[in-house]
Amino acid sequence: MKLKGIELGRVLGIPVRLHFTFPFFLVVIVAVETYGGGWRAGLHIAGVLISLFIFVLLHELGHSVVARRYGIPILDITLLPIGGVARTLGLPKTSGQEIAIALAGPAVNYALAIPLGIAVATLPAGTLREFAIPLLLANLMLGTFNLIPAFPMDGGRVLRALLALRKNYLDATRIAVWVGRAVAVIFVVVAVVDREWILLALIALFIYNAGGAELRLARRLNSLAKGTAQDAAAPLPPAIPGDASLSRAFTWLESFPYAPYFAIEMDPITISLVGREELGDLCLALRANMEISRVTLHAEIPLAGKYSLADARRKLQEAHRNMLPVRLPNGSLGILTLLDLEAWLSH
Ligand code: ZN
Repeated sequence: MKLKGIELGRVLGIPVRLHFTFPFFLVVIVAVETYGGGWRAGLHIAGVLISLFIFVLLHELGHSVVARRYGIPILDITLLPIGGVARTLGLPKTSGQEIAIALAGPAVNYALAIPLGIAVATLPAGTLREFAIPLLLANLMLGTFNLIPAFPMDGGRVLRALLALRKNYLDATRIAVWVGRAVAVIFVVVAVVDREWILLALIALFIYNAGGAELRLARRLNSLAKGTAQDAAAPLPPAIPGDASLSRAFTWLESFPYAPYFAIEMDPITISLVGREELGDLCLALRANMEISRVTLHAEIPLAGKYSLADARRKLQEAHRNMLPVRLPNGSLGILTLLDLEAWLSH
């Protein structure tokens, strides 16, 4: 799902965005309330909605902090009128991790409900107590609603993780998506019967679309798990010996006029990948008799040919790389790029 939004700032280093429909909803609801009940009512609802916004943000931060603890980077958090979405780079490695990350959001809301509940129970009747009641209810609702097993909502993620203990990831996702869609249908029926619950129809739409996207991702991961690096890698020209001078390395550029990448042998195990232009620049800029291995920096061990494409994809994502060297079965070198993965998926 494409999420456009205004960046508000960073919390714990994570960019927080506000979806453009959020201020729109805020203005409309506050205007309607002020029109019907005067400015005090307008102010009250504005305070409640802004608090709600903060609770949703804290809920998403709950997911993010736990995900980060498992080494999953968080790209950003977007707040929508129907809730928030924290986008991550990479997936949980075990069912236990997925469950912990999913439960962390509702746990934040239940934790917030405790002091609010104490406030409601002990405060004398008055404006402050009037204000605390909707905030308490909001947190209880946010916590409980998100636990409904409508994948990809939090409860649905717990369901998928539990199913994945018994079944493969794709089947578990497929079942969770269809359970989620069944719940979405119930949401639509409720919204049609009682217009007070019209927001449920929007949430149903989100469940339907986001569930579809998750299913496509699971299918791709499933296909990638069946492929190996050597199936998708493109061959590279023979590696340039590390002790070759820059002037000799230049002959590689001429001998392989269409190769976009070259490998330089750093030692018997590691190599360094350079782009054609980069190699050209090196050869031109530096002294011609300098050894090539002394000017190239990023040395790495090529992936084994049997390496799974799903793992290769994870490696690329986690390292923010767009290519990896691969050792092909005949001992020669190949290169695996994100484009090669796409091409392999669509063949
Ligand atoms: Zn959540």
